[in-house]
Amino acid sequence: MLTRFAPSPTGHLHLGHALAAKEAFGFGAAEKGRCLLRIEDIDHTRCKPDYTLGIYKDLNWLGFDWPIPTRVQSRHYLDYAKVIAALLERGLAYPCELTRRELKDGQRSKTNNTLSPLEFLAHFKMEDDAPHPKPSLPYAIRLNLAKALETTAALALTFIEKEKAEIDAKTALMAWVRSGQADPIIARKDIGVSYHIAVTHDDHLQSITHVVRGMDLYEETPLHILIQTLMGWPTPIYHHHALLTRDDGEKLSKRGLDTSLHSLRENGLTAAQVLAMASP
Ligand code: GLU
Repeated sequence: MLTRFAPSPTGHLHLGHALAAKEAFGFGAAEKGRCLLRIEDIDHTRCKPDYTLGIYKDLNWLGFDWPIPTRVQSRHYLDYAKVIAALLERGLAYPCELTRRELKDGQRSKTNNTLSPLEFLAHFKMEDDAPHPKPSLPYAIRLNLAKALETTAALALTFIEKEKAEIDAKTALMAWVRSGQADPIIARKDIGVSYHIAVTHDDHLQSITHVVRGMDLYEETPLHILIQTLMGWPTPIYHHHALLTRDDGEKLSKRGLDTSLHSLRENGLTAAQVLAMASP
């Protein structure tokens, strides 16, 4: 059993993160497995190295432990770009410079609807002096959802939630196509890749058997199942946990405290107190 805690360093960790970490590391320990830490920092427009350091410090303080080395996604843009290139190669993805709104308004893309994988990969050229590039693209890349569903028509597209319920991902994806909503973006224009590709790629690469994450990501799961199936990657078991609903956070802010873990620590709370507060 292998799970992971995969925060994005877009700010300081707060009580909600303490809950998510407790769920993931706790699950690993309870199942006599392990929990990895993965830093999901591909969004270079929002993530900061200082926040990454804060994650290590806060998790250490809370008493969690993880195997080293930690995978830091911003060092692996090319890995994710190669997945997108493979989907372009198979005609399952296409460049699109229009926003969801423009597509909804019926605008037609001016770009040719095809892009060669090599042309796409050229945006990720690694410079010798820039080991951690900050890629961007002149357009986004969208997954051709209808075609992807056609390609996987003979397959089940399901996932197991909490070891018992088998959830059908296909129905949600077919409803997406029928609704006429824009196709999902698998490479953002501003960062050249996307969360959906990076998270599924790394879960596969790291042989994650159980994905423990917040209920806020439940709606994203059908797309992840589709990407796994298209790429021939196994689908892990999912445990979407409840989010923080206790009002401690509110009470603390009323007392003038912010709920970031570092400020709770500086205000004299112990790790045990913070972990006790971090429950749904
Ligand atoms: N990095 C994502 C977040 O911070 C979590 C990804 C996941 O657990 O699948 O929301």
